[in-house]
Amino acid sequence: MGGTFDPIHHGHLVAASEVQSFFDLDEVVFVPTGQPWQKQSRQVSPAEDRYLMTVIATASNPRFWVSRVDIDRQGPTYTIDTLRDLRKELPDADLYFITGADALGDIFTWRDADELFDLAHFVGCTRPGFTLDRSTLSGMPADKVTILEIPALAISSTDCRARTMKGEPVWYLVPDGVVQYITKYALYTSAPPTSKLGP
Ligand code: ATP
Ligand code: MG
Repeated sequence: MGGTFDPIHHGHLVAASEVQSFFDLDEVVFVPTGQPWQKQSRQVSPAEDRYLMTVIATASNPRFWVSRVDIDRQGPTYTIDTLRDLRKELPDADLYFITGADALGDIFTWRDADELFDLAHFVGCTRPGFTLDRSTLSGMPADKVTILEIPALAISSTDCRARTMKGEPVWYLVPDGVVQYITKYALYTSAPPTSKLGP
């Protein structure tokens, strides 16, 4: 499951858990992006902060792991590179790429979109506020995409950041440890984000 995870929230975790259970996957690998090419208009928190929040949020689930492939690669993150790197690390695995309805709709704007379907099966999870209709899926190979209805959680990282900025709570929208991490490192306050963990 790729994402900016700025911060990771329960919408991500429920989607991952539902897909793991539906396909009986051995594990779910969360892959925080490096500098996301589609989000260059806003300041994204340092990769190490997003990585550590993702580790904190997933640590208690024995099937959940976090990969550094995207944050350790130079340059902007493209899903095709993520999948190629994971394929090298896990040559015998069947890869499933988990997205939300909004991200699945954008897939043809992704680099090397055609090749993506050779590398992985795509799972589009329903997400409140985004519709997945036939037109979203047109042009995608039917045997390589599954739409999965998951419990609706109207949570977004954008809203979590905005709430923190306004001094409103994010308790129960994100895992407790992530609330504490955000507070400890003063993420999403008006000051520009700086990592206490080095560059
Ligand atoms: P932002 O508001 O910063 O874009 P986000 O909440 O959309 O953050 P991302 O890191 O962009 O989170 O999302 C990673 C993946 O998780 C995407 O495929 C996205 O569609 C999916 N996703 C995020 N939130 C939900 C949710 N509440 N339900 C289902 N899927 C979700
Ligand atoms: Mg998003």
